[in-house]
Amino acid sequence: MKNNILKIVVFLSIYILSNISLYYYFNNDKNNRISIYFIQKVQKLFSEYKATKNGFKMLSDFVYDNISQNKDLLNLIYTLKNSKTDKKKEIRKKIYKNLLNFYNLLKKYKIYYMTLYYPDGKVFLRMHQPYRFGDSLYSKNSFKFINNPSLLLAEIETGIIYNYPLFLNNKLIANMKISISYDVLKQELTKLFNSDYEYILHKDFISNSTLRTGQKLFIQSDINENFFYEESSIKRDRSRVTNKIIHKINLKLKNKISNKLNLKKNFAVAVKIDGKYYIVTFLTISPYQKIAKNIGYLISYEQDDTFEIFNNVFWHNIILGNVIIVLILLFIFYFLRINERLKLIAATDKLTGLFNRNKFYEIANIEIERANRYNRPLSLIIFDIDFFKRINDRYGHNIGDYVLKTLSSIIKKNTRKSDYIFRWGGEEFIILTPETDILGAKKLAEKLRKAVENFEFDTVKYVTISLGVAQYNKKIDKDIDSLIKRADDALYRSKESGRNMVTIYEVN
Ligand code: GH3
Ligand code: MG
Ligand code: MG
Repeated sequence: MKNNILKIVVFLSIYILSNISLYYYFNNDKNNRISIYFIQKVQKLFSEYKATKNGFKMLSDFVYDNISQNKDLLNLIYTLKNSKTDKKKEIRKKIYKNLLNFYNLLKKYKIYYMTLYYPDGKVFLRMHQPYRFGDSLYSKNSFKFINNPSLLLAEIETGIIYNYPLFLNNKLIANMKISISYDVLKQELTKLFNSDYEYILHKDFISNSTLRTGQKLFIQSDINENFFYEESSIKRDRSRVTNKIIHKINLKLKNKISNKLNLKKNFAVAVKIDGKYYIVTFLTISPYQKIAKNIGYLISYEQDDTFEIFNNVFWHNIILGNVIIVLILLFIFYFLRINERLKLIAATDKLTGLFNRNKFYEIANIEIERANRYNRPLSLIIFDIDFFKRINDRYGHNIGDYVLKTLSSIIKKNTRKSDYIFRWGGEEFIILTPETDILGAKKLAEKLRKAVENFEFDTVKYVTISLGVAQYNKKIDKDIDSLIKRADDALYRSKESGRNMVTIYEVN
């Protein structure tokens, strides 16, 4: 019973431990796969962003290449600066007309900002606002910033700026600035790649007091209090159905990613909303590369069914692992049981079910060891059935066997659990009695003798036994055989003295 509980505890512990290892291993494996997947997502968004930007760059370069080679136009620009005020209007109009085709081309691709200014920063033409000129771009902090990296950035233009020099006869006469807002970039990304995109800007890069940069208004993002949306961009997208999900995603991510956002590094995360997985990828944006890094993030939102696979694979692995563990445990369990059975078979006598001679030596050695170490008494009873040959001769071997079996159960019934009973040979038996001195063993022997004597066997009726008793004595007994020998001597005397009696081997 105790043994079984121990076994169950051991098996259960092995099962639980191996399950913990399984869980740990496959969870680690899953996380590694997810990390790689996220890196790929960041790379994907980076490529999308780069490809989209590149499209705009090519268009804006194309416009610049044409303008920079238009001698007439360059001459007009040159003369505008040096002409008298009354002529200026006329010249400006001519320049405007000259540029209109290119500006319309830019507008077609949603590039709305095209500004021409003199090297000192003074604007002489804004194609998007032809009646606003004469101001200096360098009064605008962001622009100063481009030219003077040591200035702190207090205001930004929320987009990419391409700044081109215009030369006439190798002399710098003016600059042209073409800018694309992030909002346009976002729309283009959506058109090209069919995902949802958003961008957020860190509060440090937006005018703190008003949350206003030029004409642009900002509102705090729902993803982090330090990051802001451009209001116009958000308002336009409010109608989109997906926006509700994006809001839900953002709220769910809010606490999870605040540390990551502050690290200003690229990353991706997965969120589960209404049973569906979304991968949200964050790419840092830096409009003035090299100078101001990471003013905010471009974010992509993708519903991703493949992400579910990571979990499925994980659970499949756990289940498979469990099946294997259970099979192994079952195998071990049966192996141990078979082993136990084999051991028992090897240790017991077939006819009576008692321990055999092999087992006797195993147990006797342990008991002698114990008796020696703790100085405890140990006794041995040996007995032999009287005139057994006669029983065999008169009633046959089967009846003889029946007597042996029945006698064994009588002995068992009359001994303690702590006593060991062995079939020593044909009809000779040994009882090893730990914690028992010669007098106790004698009492037991007498009790057994009486129990056999009084038992009525089928057919043969009454049977008697003769017994010999000896107590282990470490001074006399070099080994177990010497103890057996002394008990056997006592048994011999019982036989000599008329059988059906107990004799003890007394040591003087
Ligand atoms: P004693 O009182 O002197 O012991 O007389 P005995 O007839 O019992 O003599 P002994 O002990 O020498 O006889 C043992 C006999 O037990 C011999 C053998 O035929 C018989 N015997 C031994 N093993 C078995 C067995 O497994 N089954 C049966 N039926 N008989 C057995
Ligand atoms: Mg005998
Ligand atoms: Mg006998």
